[in-house]
Amino acid sequence: MSKEINKNKVVVFTGAGVSAESGILTFRDSGGLWNTHKVTEVATPQEWRTNPSLVLDFYNERRRQLKEVEPNAAHCAIAKLEERYEVVVITQNVDDLHERVGSSNVIHLHGEITKARSTVDPKLVYEIGISDVNLGMLCEKDSQLRPHIVWFHENVFDEQLARNHFKDAGRILVVGTSLVVQPAASMIKRARHGAEKIFVNFDIERVLYGYKCFSAKATEMVPVIVEKWLSGIKVV
Ligand code: NAD
Repeated sequence: MSKEINKNKVVVFTGAGVSAESGILTFRDSGGLWNTHKVTEVATPQEWRTNPSLVLDFYNERRRQLKEVEPNAAHCAIAKLEERYEVVVITQNVDDLHERVGSSNVIHLHGEITKARSTVDPKLVYEIGISDVNLGMLCEKDSQLRPHIVWFHENVFDEQLARNHFKDAGRILVVGTSLVVQPAASMIKRARHGAEKIFVNFDIERVLYGYKCFSAKATEMVPVIVEKWLSGIKVV
């Protein structure tokens, strides 16, 4: 039996576009990360086996960049939803910008750059903040630490948990994602018919069935939507 829709529950699903205006490059936009670093060079288990220092350097650089950036108006507005709603943020991002402004329930499908984990025991996960991870840094079981990131060909974290959240949410806000990465992108189709569903993206390339789509910058549109939802009214 399907669960009842919970009108007080909001699921916010975010991608690289929500952090773009903070200065973190997106995945595929022009000038994005992968124009300067081939995905196959840095984000695969194969590369980790053959060239771990390149992989560590790549993520060390991304981590250092976190020092230079701040959450933007979209992250802040999303956190503010907690004043009225039970909110779950499901993000494809590996940065910590949602948490920095107080979002308290964030599922990172693709991992977190501020954490490292053991290469022999995936349960051994360590908070490292913006520190570098270098060759020779070991977990308590004496194996090399690796970035706590989901690489290509690896399973995303908490997939079932995330899917289930879509099934009873009364409001769903999808922000800043090209929706090309699976299985994350298919999750948003789990949303219920009766839920209010909004998609905000700078450059909307596809129609999302059942979603009201706004071709806009996250920092401009997300605060508007949040203010309406905090007042208990529908967006359109
Ligand atoms: P993507 O790069 O494929 O798509 C980003 C989308 O955001 C694009 O469609 C673009 O038009 C839109 N966008 C750009 N600027 C925007 C803005 N200001 N407002 C609204 N929309 C804007 O990103 P994705 O769909 O999240 O792809 C997923 C992959 O990217 C994941 O694997 C994720 O881990 C990785 N990634 C994460 C970060 C991060 O943690 N911030 C950064 C780069 C890449």
